[in-house]
Amino acid sequence: MANKNVCGKEIKQIEKLEAEIHRIKRLAYVDELTGLFNRHGFKVEADKFLHELNAPKEEMTKRRVALISNFSIIMVDADHFKKVNDVYGHPTGDAILKMLAVAITGRVRDLDMVGRWGGEEIIIGLPGASENDAAMIADIIREKVEKERVVSKKKSVGVTISSGVAAHAHGDTLEALIHKADKALYEAKHRGRNCVVRFTELKSAK
Ligand code: GH3
Ligand code: MG
Ligand code: MG
Repeated sequence: MANKNVCGKEIKQIEKLEAEIHRIKRLAYVDELTGLFNRHGFKVEADKFLHELNAPKEEMTKRRVALISNFSIIMVDADHFKKVNDVYGHPTGDAILKMLAVAITGRVRDLDMVGRWGGEEIIIGLPGASENDAAMIADIIREKVEKERVVSKKKSVGVTISSGVAAHAHGDTLEALIHKADKALYEAKHRGRNCVVRFTELKSAK
């Protein structure tokens, strides 16, 4: 940064600009409410991974093959969230979304990717996890969320979540993988919510 031709005032302006660029880049990747990746941020991170996973095996180092021989997705959706907003108000709904983000990030590893996919939907990418591994993690998160509470107008408010789980099959794009997890999530809602469904449990799964 120190340059003989740049005076102190200009350095300050450049630093301000750099901070602004950093802020804008963060906004493009991160959801403001929960601090998780936003949809775009999650896609960019997960796509990087899948690109390697779909590459011919001989082009990968052994270490890479071991690390990324599996990749699973958990699609999480808060149950009856519209009702939570209607009964307790939008700020309480927001507080519950933040609680969900904390409950999830507290139970995944550093290399896992967590993003806010839409309003009350959170997506988790788990490198190295089989469908079984991911289903176990999804259930641990489900149990944790079931016990959590936020306080709203002296009332204790909770929420449950439903999750769909799917594992990457060679050649799957991120879109295909998410489609599988979505189908499993749909079934979880159909089964009465507050549960985890794996894609391979579905009759339509190949
Ligand atoms: P289901 O169990 O079938 O998922 O029912 P649901 O009520 O959760 O689903 P629905 O899609 O009908 O409603 C989702 C609700 O999530 C509606 C919307 O107001 C709320 N929502 C979306 N984004 C936010 C947000 O940022 N903050 C709050 N407080 N609510 C949000
Ligand atoms: Mg939803
Ligand atoms: Mg919902």
